[in-house]
Amino acid sequence: MSLFFARTPAPLKPARELPVCSCGALLFRENTGCVTCGSAVGHVPDVSILTSFSILPDGRWKSDHPELRGRHFKPCSGRALVHQCNWMLDAKDNASQCLSCSLTRTIPDLTVPGAPDHWAAVEHTKRQVVIQLLRLDIPVKSKLTYPDGVCFDLLEPQAAGTLVMTGHEDGVITLNLSEANPAHRTATRELMGERYRTLAGHLRHELAHYYWDMLAVSPAWLEQWREVFGDERQDYGVALQRHHQNGPPGDWSLKYISPYASSHPWEDWAECFAHYLHMEEGLETSAQLGIDLRKLHLRAVPFDRSVLGGDISRRSAEKFLERIDRWVLLGLATNELNAALGHEPAYPFVLNIAVVRKLHFIQESLTALSEG
Ligand SMILES: [Zn+2]
Ligand SMILES: [Zn+2]
Ligand SMILES: [Zn+2]
Repeated sequence: MSLFFARTPAPLKPARELPVCSCGALLFRENTGCVTCGSAVGHVPDVSILTSFSILPDGRWKSDHPELRGRHFKPCSGRALVHQCNWMLDAKDNASQCLSCSLTRTIPDLTVPGAPDHWAAVEHTKRQVVIQLLRLDIPVKSKLTYPDGVCFDLLEPQAAGTLVMTGHEDGVITLNLSEANPAHRTATRELMGERYRTLAGHLRHELAHYYWDMLAVSPAWLEQWREVFGDERQDYGVALQRHHQNGPPGDWSLKYISPYASSHPWEDWAECFAHYLHMEEGLETSAQLGIDLRKLHLRAVPFDRSVLGGDISRRSAEKFLERIDRWVLLGLATNELNAALGHEPAYPFVLNIAVVRKLHFIQESLTALSEG
């Protein structure tokens, strides 16, 4: 216990405080209006602020938020669509779409029953995923403007008339829109023997493949990556086929974060990358909420610094492992609360030493991405 408390001093300081309206009411991620006073609400991506706005007679929007004084805005054109994008653009911006909306290259066929709601769910999730990447200074740009950017094709399988495989190739992420249908997603999760399948997980996983392409141009990074994840030059198609036919190796839970991660080093990277972003977002949210882990009646055995090997400085290893410890406790607490409400565990994972090492490598890689 003393060891644990030695590593979890005060609550984390959030990157941003919880957003509030000018009337004082709390605002939530996807609000377009304040439920208390009715003010229009929008998110300003360059400073990551969600707040209330007033609309001037000339149509421009302005906010009383101290960090936005003197600036004028216009809402993203996606605000009028079914997904009600709540992002704002500078009033003088030539573009009509925000960054998140501009990442969608193909919208699904909305005449298929259910498709409008499923599209809305994907766009909501994409906005939250992009907000996090921008907060971490990870480059996000649309392939529609930059050849080395990323974009999304959101395909409704019924309309496509063919199988839609979710995946990434050369900056294009294809997403089977059925993944936004909870019934389909649950059935697929059962069929695949998974315990966790979410839209956020899909988006973070596929983005991981995009960022891998970006990072792997560095021979030094690739060499280190192979030491952690293995040799990606083994045949990908054969590896995936073997995984789908035989399932994961019996000891997968000692080396990987999920059964699918064991299929090929690329999938191991993508699963761990998505997992790191889940963890980081969970920690940031808990910091915004002001959760003080010292007050939980939960204990976890901390990972020892030696699990990260000798090359890492003591300070950076302890800082990283403190976050892992916090996250383990938060996962336990969340799972207990879910069990109390009769739900499945929100966080059905057990971190092992190999995965902790991989997550640390992901953290270092994100730093490299943010430094360009
Ligand atoms: Zn309000
Ligand atoms: Zn938008
Ligand atoms: Zn993948």
